[in-house]
Amino acid sequence: MCGIVGYIGPRQAYPILIKGLHRLEYRGYDSAGCALISDTDNHLNIYKAKGKVSDLERSATGKDISGSVGIAHTRWATHGEPSEVNAHPHLGRSGYITLVHNGIIENYATLRAQLIKKGFSFKSETDTEVLVQLIEYTQQKLNCGLGNAVRNALRLVIGAYAIAAIDSRRPHELVCARKSSPLAIGVVDDNSEFFIGSDAAPIAEYTDRIIYLKDEEVAVITRDAPIKVYDLKGHEAEKEIQHVSLDLAMLDHEGFPHFMLKEIFDQPKVLTDCMRGRIVESPYGHQPAVALSAVTRHRRELLRAKRIVIVSCGTSWHAGLIGKQLIEHFCRIPVEVAYASEFRYSEPVIEHDDVVIAISQSGETADTLAALRTAKDHGALVYGIVNGVGSSIAREADTGTYIHVGPEIGVASTKAFTGQVTVLAMLALALGIAKGTVSQEEYETTLRELSAIPAKIERVLLQNDKIRLLAENFTYAHNFLYLGRGCNYPVALEGALKLKEISYIHAEGYPAAEMKHGPIALVDREMPVVFVATNHDALYQKTISNMQEIISRHGRIIAIVTEGDEQVKAMVHKTIEVPDTISALTPLLTVIPLQLLAYHIAVAKGLDVDQPRNLAKSVTVE
Ligand code: GLU
Repeated sequence: MCGIVGYIGPRQAYPILIKGLHRLEYRGYDSAGCALISDTDNHLNIYKAKGKVSDLERSATGKDISGSVGIAHTRWATHGEPSEVNAHPHLGRSGYITLVHNGIIENYATLRAQLIKKGFSFKSETDTEVLVQLIEYTQQKLNCGLGNAVRNALRLVIGAYAIAAIDSRRPHELVCARKSSPLAIGVVDDNSEFFIGSDAAPIAEYTDRIIYLKDEEVAVITRDAPIKVYDLKGHEAEKEIQHVSLDLAMLDHEGFPHFMLKEIFDQPKVLTDCMRGRIVESPYGHQPAVALSAVTRHRRELLRAKRIVIVSCGTSWHAGLIGKQLIEHFCRIPVEVAYASEFRYSEPVIEHDDVVIAISQSGETADTLAALRTAKDHGALVYGIVNGVGSSIAREADTGTYIHVGPEIGVASTKAFTGQVTVLAMLALALGIAKGTVSQEEYETTLRELSAIPAKIERVLLQNDKIRLLAENFTYAHNFLYLGRGCNYPVALEGALKLKEISYIHAEGYPAAEMKHGPIALVDREMPVVFVATNHDALYQKTISNMQEIISRHGRIIAIVTEGDEQVKAMVHKTIEVPDTISALTPLLTVIPLQLLAYHIAVAKGLDVDQPRNLAKSVTVE
């Protein structure tokens, strides 16, 4: 949820920490802080600020920011309001040990009460301060080093954590640990420098050699020595260094005013990357074929599946709804789509020959990860569809396919959504052709169409200015309806979610025909209604009837239509055209204007698009 950065090595830590925090700021941003052990006198300097990383920088200006070991944090508050006192790092009672934490200590109230009985007092309302005092208490009781104190304290903790801690009496050392929250350690070749990050983004420019801790592992990092990793009982674990490369250019705006707009415009390129090497020419001729290594490796289990369950949250759940339609159409296997947060606590009926698909942009979504583990416990094959290379879901799934759309920084997901749908389409086609449930002709036509999608998205993007002007008319709205049918129903849900997330306008997505069973009561002259009404299938005429029903009640319609559509244009004032494609792939085009519409309405309202209030990029807490 929040971001953690840490450094130990020969360089000055502060600039590395600040740069790292900026790279992670999209994950949580209500306050920020850092701690450094001063070069001059080994004094622990802690700086904190409510607000953004730039506020932290201002508050540290002119102060002692020296030190070659340090930890830093951007917070997404769970316990205690965003404030300077609740910001991390938190300090242990004696003033030597300090800690940053991502996650939730579920039994913090019990631990807090026990520590108060032992004479501890607390400055903040956070669960994190309880943990640092517990480490402090353990360190004094066992009279041990920081690593052992952290390890033994964590044995008493219930909950989720990624932590990094330092002790000003031990400036040669940094300790970190994780359970259910992500943490990566970058290691420079000769062990001269170590970088800690909630993900690889703050590490990537220094090294591609990354160690990922498993749950309940503690890493003790000592200057110029190999890292030691232990489980909570103190047994040393062998760790493998992985090579993870990130495209650093993807971490910058590249001339766009916001990451979200850049990422919307990234889609033609990154969807091409997503399909590269996966849609290939068949060895028997020039026909296209899909090659997914996960499908080749697990062909037997995938083909025998009687049922597929997709687990995901938010935008990924909407991609899952489209995945259901694609898989049911091409493979004739029943598919259920579950909210991961409900699935994990729902006594799910999962048979060992079911396949569970877990979808998450970051690969760290706590609920999706827990759902994945539940599915594995039931013996199902778990297939991960994630963007975060080396993420927890990528590591724990039995198999899977990366969407490969590059880091997504904007909090409102855009290119990850289309990447997920693209992978689901390739997966459905790969399974369908292997099962014989899709004809060779439909398979090839769909693959050709899928390959043509990036160029068609380019055409939709050419309407950016038109959509911007249109958006400016709707900043007054307090409510929006988004309606679509069939393949465009999940797109309506996704369009409504985008608008809510960044413009704070209440929006509901509905199947167009359901609208008359309730939401139509909301329609008046003020109510904008977005119809996704492409004209390639039987539902088109029915959607037009639904549109008439809105027009009769004076609703203000914006319609997403197929290029050349005259019928809808004649009925409504505002239309946005998308190129024609086959029905199953329509969402990849119709979602683009809805992303732009939400973006421009939020910008016109003067809102902070990349860092909307209350939201964080990857939700690594329950
Ligand atoms: N639970 C901690 C807090 O509220 C950490 C939150 C976070 O992950 O940023 O301070």
